[in-house]
Amino acid sequence: MSIDAVTAPVNRSSEGAPVDHEVVVIGAGMAGMYQIKRLMDLGVDALCLERDADLGGTWYKNRYPGARFDSESYTYGYSWDRELLEEWHWVERFSPQPETLRYLNHVADKFNLRDKIRFNCGVTAMTFDEDGPLWRLTLTDGSEMTCRFVLTALGVLSIPTYPKIEGMESFQGPAFHTFDWPAEPVELKGKRVAVIGTGATAIQAIPEIAKEAEQLVVFQRRPNWAAPLNNGLISDEEMADIRRRYDEIFAQCRRTAAGFEHDADRRGFWNVSREERMELWDRLYDGPGFGIWLQNFLEIFLDEAANAEFSEYIADRIRQRVKDPVLAEKLIPKDHGFGIQRVPLETNYFEAYNRDNVTLVDLTETPIECITPTGIRTTAGEMPFDIIVYATGFDAFTGAFDRIDITGANGQKLRDKWADGPVTYLGLLVSGFPNMIMLAGPQIAATNFPRAIEPAVDWATDLLEHTWATGHNRFDTDAAAEQAWVDDVARGYSLVLSGRAQSWITGYNSNLSGHEYGKTRYNVYQGGAPRYMAKIQSVKDEGFSGVEFAG
Ligand code: NAP
Repeated sequence: MSIDAVTAPVNRSSEGAPVDHEVVVIGAGMAGMYQIKRLMDLGVDALCLERDADLGGTWYKNRYPGARFDSESYTYGYSWDRELLEEWHWVERFSPQPETLRYLNHVADKFNLRDKIRFNCGVTAMTFDEDGPLWRLTLTDGSEMTCRFVLTALGVLSIPTYPKIEGMESFQGPAFHTFDWPAEPVELKGKRVAVIGTGATAIQAIPEIAKEAEQLVVFQRRPNWAAPLNNGLISDEEMADIRRRYDEIFAQCRRTAAGFEHDADRRGFWNVSREERMELWDRLYDGPGFGIWLQNFLEIFLDEAANAEFSEYIADRIRQRVKDPVLAEKLIPKDHGFGIQRVPLETNYFEAYNRDNVTLVDLTETPIECITPTGIRTTAGEMPFDIIVYATGFDAFTGAFDRIDITGANGQKLRDKWADGPVTYLGLLVSGFPNMIMLAGPQIAATNFPRAIEPAVDWATDLLEHTWATGHNRFDTDAAAEQAWVDDVARGYSLVLSGRAQSWITGYNSNLSGHEYGKTRYNVYQGGAPRYMAKIQSVKDEGFSGVEFAG
């Protein structure tokens, strides 16, 4: 890339009303950073708008103790620059948040990405103007900006869901969602801390908070299945080996359904003996990362009897780790099987409950009545706290879109179109919302995140290039192609046990947007990454079938 290409960006659409920028990318997390890099390389006049004070998205915001990847670090990094791969040493097998943020800053510095990112600049509204054609963006400072194309990189878990509990605002001490964990150090020593929620985030944070706090009380509505992360340091020799194998590692990630190195055991659950199953599970339980979930028998995801047998295996492991048998039973999910919801990985989570300073409150027995100025009152009485931590999850996938007042062609609101759940073409386009591409939108493949967003960014860039090369300045997807995709996504939910889970995959936590509780929202494509990637590739090979070009 020449420096001139960066400093002298061009508008590539030959026709159309003048715009401030040819392309605006919203969000400077992993997807937005790669997208702006691709556009800089093409010499396109593009700007990235970031609502936060700095880049990193998920890894900028999630500063809670214990925050780290559940993906092997070296499968999570960007794959598109050989020099970057060669020079970066991942310190831990599952990188902690500070290291990941350092990595992203290193990437930004190396490729001068900050030149093209405007910080503290959120988008509150965007309206498509057919006459341009162009998008009119309203920014958080009230100013307006126009562009031909908008690429959204809003993050899939970027809108925290605070619970709605009476008296929350009256609490006099610090109280925050894990996503809003303060940047300045939070003193936990000598403090009485409450954690509400027991999802993947809480399961990472609880053992860390327990080490510091004088007293930790965990408020659990439903327990989650969890298994050991088995983290470790990566030595110089291992890192050298990883660098040698990067091509092979990424190729393997492309082959597997979830974009990890781990691949399912295809011997057939019922074709092997119980002893052989146990031998596999013992090995996986002591092995790293998502092996316990993704290297397991495929039947775990599809067959209730297989799932039940394996869930009982994990339940026994929990019983072995938690000293108090009554408490152990409370920590074992009874309403869903292992792996049906996204599996949290943990380091000493269950052992945390063996500590004298940690207590579990089972909210099915003693629900929270209210939050008081000095604590939390359940039906069993009031408990005093100095700090309340809400680990209550996210308004996933569509929440970030709902927070922007998006108006497409003919005055249609995206919020209205998605009132019953997201409707997209390939998770990338939305019919009636021309010149908008979602880089990490609903209904893309659920994978090790960067392994899905890199192809999404490449696909989006190819679509823009195609539009420019064919002399057009407007594209939209046709409604029939969109409906076929939505049907395909919905079909996927009917085939897997997780399609019925009470989790953010089904939109269970989207209450803040006013969505109906308990109504399935088809948030992700369940057909696996290879099938998804093949689909978007074939659409591209067909000259972007299902997309109409104009202008
Ligand atoms: P989550 O899985 O949605 O869990 C939210 C928790 O809060 C659940 O235990 C939920 O209970 C509870 N909760 C919600 N509202 C409540 C209320 N009013 N009263 C009491 N409890 C309430 O959210 P998360 O833990 O933040 O995880 C979300 C996703 O983020 C994960 O699945 C994962 O994909 C991602 N994540 C990734 C990593 C990583 O890569 N290492 C780490 C953390 C998170 P119910 O189950 O009863 O609803």
